[in-house]
Amino acid sequence: MLFDVIIIGGGPAGLTAGIYTSRARLKSLLIERAFPGGQVMTTEWIENYPGFDEGISGVELSQKMERQAKKFGLEIIQGSVARLSLYDKIKKIELDEGQIYESKTLIVATGANPMHLKVEGEDRYRGRGVSYCATCDGAFFKDKKIAVIGGGNSALQEAIFLTKFAEMVYIVHRRGEFRATKILQERAFANPHIKVIWNSVAEKIEGEDTVNTLFLRNVKTKESTRLEVQGVFIYVGYNPNTEFLKGLVYLNEENYIVTDEKMSASLPGVFAAGDARVKFLKQIATAVGDGAMAAMAAEKYIEENF
Ligand SMILES: Cc1cc2nc3c(=O)[nH]c(=O)nc-3n(C[C@H](O)[C@H](O)[C@H](O)COP(=O)(O)OP(=O)(O)OC[C@H]3O[C@@H](n4cnc5c(N)ncnc54)[C@H](O)[C@@H]3O)c2cc1C
Repeated sequence: MLFDVIIIGGGPAGLTAGIYTSRARLKSLLIERAFPGGQVMTTEWIENYPGFDEGISGVELSQKMERQAKKFGLEIIQGSVARLSLYDKIKKIELDEGQIYESKTLIVATGANPMHLKVEGEDRYRGRGVSYCATCDGAFFKDKKIAVIGGGNSALQEAIFLTKFAEMVYIVHRRGEFRATKILQERAFANPHIKVIWNSVAEKIEGEDTVNTLFLRNVKTKESTRLEVQGVFIYVGYNPNTEFLKGLVYLNEENYIVTDEKMSASLPGVFAAGDARVKFLKQIATAVGDGAMAAMAAEKYIEENF
């Protein structure tokens, strides 16, 4: 079956693209490997997305976007895209289980995944004290001590959220100041359940069945210390989910998709939206903007080429 538009990824960028293409009566398919909502599904509370003046939970916002897209006829299937054939006018999209779908245009909205620290004990204790998702795992740490590693918006936001459960949250940051926005810094500094450990990096995570110790090294004094914690939450950056595009479209040195302002990638009929592309600000508001733009650009491409 030939689609007008196939969208890979069901985060805010992909779902918005789907709302626009389906509402424009284009035959649209969205392929999502996990669950619609993407990173938003794993975010506890969102208060900077316009229209929700009291804030909204990530799960609820994801469900609303999914419902809205389905209302206009967007077909959503579960599957992980593994291979693409993009050089012909009709694009072929192959899932890792072998099914092949064909489309006139493709919108890649595969977002990004958290980066790992790559320290001893990280893989061993993943799911047994090491986590990349406070919303998913925070409740397991009631009255415990936790370390949050990182200094950007996600690290501070999730550290503040974790104080709902934990007795103490240590934010371990390799520099002497945060990159996070001022409002989050002010909230973190004002929170009696947060302590910041500056100029320090994690060296090793140890435990028995579950984590009990994080080994740190001060990058200035070179001094090593032990922190007794039962959880280590890691927020040190992201890798774009663009593996399957390597050698097909132009990616930057960090493997983000390079697009023009209409979200066109370097091949005709291929568009990208959201966190997977090179951009200044990776947020829900910018992801939905990208999704709308990519959808309209895909519609125009079909009008002009088919
Ligand atoms: C902890 C945390 C807190 C955040 N808080 C906020 C906030 O308060 N406000 C805000 O504006 N932003 C926030 N963000 C950022 C925001 O969630 C992202 O910018 C936004 O979700 C990006 O949307 P996206 O659609 O580009 O990608 P994603 O949300 O990453 O969605 C991409 C989707 O593609 C799917 N996918 C990937 N590869 C494949 C494949 N090969 N085949 C099929 N499917 C695939 C993934 O499963 C995923 O569902 C937060 C992020 C995190 C992690």
